[in-house]
Amino acid sequence: MATSEKLYDIIIIGCGPAGIAAALELQKYQPTPSFLILEARNRVGGRTYTDTHTFATDEPIDLGARWIHHYRPENPLSIHHTPSDKDRFNYQFFNDATTTAHFDYDGTSWSEASMNEAEKIVEEFYAHIKQYDSTKEDISMFDAIRDKYEKIQDEKVRRLVDMNLAFVEHYEASNLSELSTKSFEKSDNDIQPCDLTLPIGLGSFIERIVERNHLPVQLNTIVTHINILIDKNSSICISTQDQQHYMCKYVLITIPLGCLKKHGIHFTPALPD
Ligand SMILES: Cc1cc2nc3c(=O)[nH]c(=O)nc-3n(C[C@H](O)[C@H](O)[C@H](O)COP(=O)(O)OP(=O)(O)OC[C@H]3O[C@@H](n4cnc5c(N)ncnc54)[C@H](O)[C@@H]3O)c2cc1C
Repeated sequence: MATSEKLYDIIIIGCGPAGIAAALELQKYQPTPSFLILEARNRVGGRTYTDTHTFATDEPIDLGARWIHHYRPENPLSIHHTPSDKDRFNYQFFNDATTTAHFDYDGTSWSEASMNEAEKIVEEFYAHIKQYDSTKEDISMFDAIRDKYEKIQDEKVRRLVDMNLAFVEHYEASNLSELSTKSFEKSDNDIQPCDLTLPIGLGSFIERIVERNHLPVQLNTIVTHINILIDKNSSICISTQDQQHYMCKYVLITIPLGCLKKHGIHFTPALPD
C-alpha cells in the first residue's frame, strides 16, 4: 500500500475521449493546474480503439468509434487533424452505394434502382417526421410514419427501408417505436451531415492526440474507491485495485455511466441516489 506524496489539483478518472478532452482543456489554463489521468486499461482511447494487428492487412480496423461526425472547422477535433488524400468524407451517412456494397439476406446484391427507391421513401418519412406539429402531443417516430410504412407493397423494398431506418436506431441506440418525433434531429441542430473517417483509424488518431500533447496518463490503474477526507483540508483520496492511493483537490470522473451503475467505484460518503 502506497500513498503518492503529491497533492494533485485535479485527477481525471478514465482516459477515453471525455477524459482526454478534459485534460486538453486544463492545459489551456495558465498556470496549468497539476493533474493526472488514471486509466484502467493498458491503453488510452476507451471506446475508440484501432486494431492494427489482428488482420494481415494495412487497413486499420476501428473496433469502437470510427467516424468524426459533423466534421467542419468548428469541430474541436479539427485542430488535431492534418488533412490527407486518404481522408474519406461521407456526406450521406445512411446510404452510400458507391463505397459500400449492400446484399440481401440470400446473397444477391441490391440494384442501385432499389436502393434509390428505398432511400427516397425514407427521405419522405424523415420529411414527414420533421413536419410534425410541435404543439401536438409527442408520438414515436414509428407511429409518425406507420401509415406510410404499412403501404409499402414490395417486400424487398421494405427490407431496404428497414435497413435505412436501422441506421437511425443504431445511431440513437433505441427503437423507432421509442424515439421521439418532436426531438428528431434536434440534437444535431439540423446541420448537414458530413462524416469523416481517417486512414489511420479514429482510435490511433485519439492516441496520437494524447502523445502529442504529452498528457500525463497512468495506465493499468483501476480506481476502486474515492474517499473525501473531511478532516484533511477536504482533499480527496483515490484508491486503486493495486492498493495505491492518490491525493487531489478535485476529481473528474469520466468513466461510462454503466460502470458507475455497477458500483465499479465506491464513494465515501456515498453518492446520493
Ligand atoms: C462500437 C462503437 C461504435 C461507435 N462509433 C462511433 C463513431 O463512429 N463516432 C463517434 O463519435 N462515436 C462513436 N461511438 C461512441 C464513442 O466511442 C463514445 O461516445 C466515446 O468513446 C465516449 O467517450 P468517454 O470518454 O465518455 O467513455 P469511454 O470511451 O468509455 O472511456 C472511458 C474510460 O474510462 C476507463 N475506466 C472505466 N472504469 C474505470 C475505473 N474504475 N478506473 C479507471 N478507468 C476506468 C475505461 O477503461 C475507458 O478508457 C461508438 C461506440 C461504440 C462502442
